[in-house]
Amino acid sequence: MALIDFRCDNCGEKFEEIVKLSNRESIKCPKCGSNEVKQVFEGRCNTGGSAKGGGSCSSGSCGGCSGCH
Ligand SMILES: [Zn+2]
Repeated sequence: MALIDFRCDNCGEKFEEIVKLSNRESIKCPKCGSNEVKQVFEGRCNTGGSAKGGGSCSSGSCGGCSGCH
């Protein structure tokens, strides 16, 4: 299991869920109940310089972004 950040495409809600890898497809937004949620790849931001300004982190949507841009 892992704590993964998600963002809802429907309402923009950001939330964290502890999910099993096999269960990722069934994540739903806690605010609106939509299953149109996207995983936020926080790890990209923290694991190397190549992620700077790229990927999903450029929007500052992940909590681990503050140190990389
Ligand atoms: Zn939502």
